[in-house]
Amino acid sequence: MASDTLELSAWELSAKIRSGELQAEDHICILFDHIKKIESKIKSYISIDEEGAINQAKALDKKVKAGDKVGKLCGVGIAIKDNICTLNLRTTCGSRMLENYVSPFDATVIERIKHEDGIIVGKTNMDEFAMGSSTEHSYFGSTHNPWDISRVPGGSSGGSAASIAAQEATLALGGDTGGSIRCPSSFCGVTGIKTTYGLVSRYGMVSYANSLEQIGPIAKNVRDCSLMLEVIAGYDRRDSTSVKDKTEEYTKALGGGIDNLKIGIPKEFYAEGIDPAVEDSVLEAVSKIEGAYKVSSNELSLERVADALPAYYIIAMSEASSNLARYDGVRYGFRIEDKTYDWSTVFGKDREMGFGQEVKRRIILGTFALSAGYYDQFYLKAQKIRTLIVEDFTRAFKKVDVLVTPTMPILPFKIGEKISDPIQMYLCDVDTVPINLAGLPSISIPCGFKRGLPVGLQLIAPPFREDLLIKVASAFEQTLKVNKTPKLE
Ligand code: GLN
Repeated sequence: MASDTLELSAWELSAKIRSGELQAEDHICILFDHIKKIESKIKSYISIDEEGAINQAKALDKKVKAGDKVGKLCGVGIAIKDNICTLNLRTTCGSRMLENYVSPFDATVIERIKHEDGIIVGKTNMDEFAMGSSTEHSYFGSTHNPWDISRVPGGSSGGSAASIAAQEATLALGGDTGGSIRCPSSFCGVTGIKTTYGLVSRYGMVSYANSLEQIGPIAKNVRDCSLMLEVIAGYDRRDSTSVKDKTEEYTKALGGGIDNLKIGIPKEFYAEGIDPAVEDSVLEAVSKIEGAYKVSSNELSLERVADALPAYYIIAMSEASSNLARYDGVRYGFRIEDKTYDWSTVFGKDREMGFGQEVKRRIILGTFALSAGYYDQFYLKAQKIRTLIVEDFTRAFKKVDVLVTPTMPILPFKIGEKISDPIQMYLCDVDTVPINLAGLPSISIPCGFKRGLPVGLQLIAPPFREDLLIKVASAFEQTLKVNKTPKLE
């Protein structure tokens, strides 16, 4: 069996397995051989489940043979970010605190994937508790960018994006609180969708900042993303923020014309600090789409977006300080062996040793921002800015259909380059966090390569217009034709 099945899209793969042309077991074995060959270089995974995946593949092959109905993700190997709960594999959140934690239930998105016959390959590396933009803040060590292994893959879902670029999985799930799907998608040259807040159930996702985060797909192309989205989107009574009656058959949005589309170019996303190579690549892509379709683009302003980064970090850290209070070594998490301490010292020691430096920094800053006397000055002010940002976007979408921006202001940086300077790391998120504050859908697609590294283009649409996002992104993809795979030996 040729190893070129690794190159197939999820769409192609599931069709071949469904028709019996390809055995799921053969494909999954090829996938694990490949993982074993390159994983020591890339380090996409924290845990892998070869036995479970092969057993599932065998059962699926039997179903196909018997002519039983099989699901939309039939036989596709899927990588899951390690903050999404799975019954049979540990869920570590990239932290020593949860190094051996195994959830007693599957997250809703996992149930849905299994129901559609997707095969879970393993759990991917991430910044600890999803706090970071490089995957360097993982207790399990850094993931490497498949385009240049001396560079970061982006974060926090760096393992998921790297696994797609390195063909260690065909589909992946990530989570996006402030860019964690789009940032690594951009840095690894793959496609990822951050969905509208409420579209995908968060039940079984370990929370970092619940008012901002969503689970979403990472894949080789727009079509595969839309397939995965179709499976995971939809109301779930176990998530109180889940929204009813807003899903669509996203794969139907693919193709078709985009004539008369109005594109907005918000100038605040092309501001100081952007690498000119990134800006050129994104604007070149816009002019190519204008050449290929009858679309128009206009510069516009989203004034309050300039304040998005500080507002985001105050809100995210505040929510994190409250969410992470449960990890005390008693209810959950790492516990020191020494029994001679009194209980409050034990709590303190468990947290001191179980959490990494960046997580502790955020818990301390978040607790400070919420404390009496500072609440109005920081948290409340940040929430007011959040409302103004929502209004900015609402106004913009009265004039244009979608917005186009760079996903990241810079190209993937070297491992170790920013880790000791948190502000430099936070600044990387300047173009992604406004979208989470406003709860909007957005997608990152590859739009070109500069200095041998991928550049990501971000499309933003009004709430619950994932259909529009997919349609426009697929038009860009067809026009630009830049999707490719790195060579890995
Ligand atoms: N880099 C951002 C942060 O550290 C976003 C992380 C995320 O989306 N989970 O908060």
